[in-house]
Amino acid sequence: MIKTDYHMHTTFCDGKNSPEEMVQSAIDMGMEEMGFSVHGITFHDNSYCMKREKKPLYIEEIKALKEKYRDKIKIYLGVEGDYYSSEDVSMYDYVIGSVHYVKIEDEYVVVDSNAECLKKASDKYFGGDTLSFAEKYYEVVADVVNKLDCDIIGHFNLLEKFQEKTPIFDTESERYKKAWKKAVDALIPSGVPFEINTGAISRGYRTVPYPSFEMIEYIKEKGGSVIFSSDSHAKDTIMYEFSKWEDKVRATGVNIKEKLR
Ligand SMILES: [Zn+2]
Ligand SMILES: [Zn+2]
Repeated sequence: MIKTDYHMHTTFCDGKNSPEEMVQSAIDMGMEEMGFSVHGITFHDNSYCMKREKKPLYIEEIKALKEKYRDKIKIYLGVEGDYYSSEDVSMYDYVIGSVHYVKIEDEYVVVDSNAECLKKASDKYFGGDTLSFAEKYYEVVADVVNKLDCDIIGHFNLLEKFQEKTPIFDTESERYKKAWKKAVDALIPSGVPFEINTGAISRGYRTVPYPSFEMIEYIKEKGGSVIFSSDSHAKDTIMYEFSKWEDKVRATGVNIKEKLR
């Protein structure tokens, strides 16, 4: 049974609970390891990430918690870096590499705010062809390890966040599959695990984790690995539905990394 989770947000960015509340909850759940992954600073968008002046406090607080609870749980100081962030991340124990925007011309199109935004960008830049937008997204994802030198690949198919309720991408089309397969192919040689991310389930957007099982099977076929993460924004969603999905993911035969190191 998985007893680790390295993707969680706190009041240092857009989460609801303090780091210590998260730690106490993780200990109550019998976890062995946990990692804090504050939204790294994106200079073009200050709305969801850590404010620049808070960074020293974040580092100090997580380090203090590491010490305080060292006999009960192993704590990592991490960051969820965005592809378009140019923040120095050398002081962190690990980095989750995520793509939350697609930069087209001078615009940073937000991938995970709402379906309308994705539609609009497809209209504006691709004559309404949403698959062209998807191709552009996966081109950026394909480069995420290269750009951020990350330890975990975050929510691989984030652009499908609204797909269950508002389907705008033809995910069954050959073009779509070719786009994500190309990204997997580009990322596999790095050896960096892909997240099995249940964050959109806990927040009511999806009923299945990122990435899809078809994607997990392809990752397995290519020799890649995965790591479970909850992308929690509150203490009650740490390791969210891990027990529900663990056996199903295991059944694909993919290598599951149960610990970061
Ligand atoms: Zn993210
Ligand atoms: Zn996150």
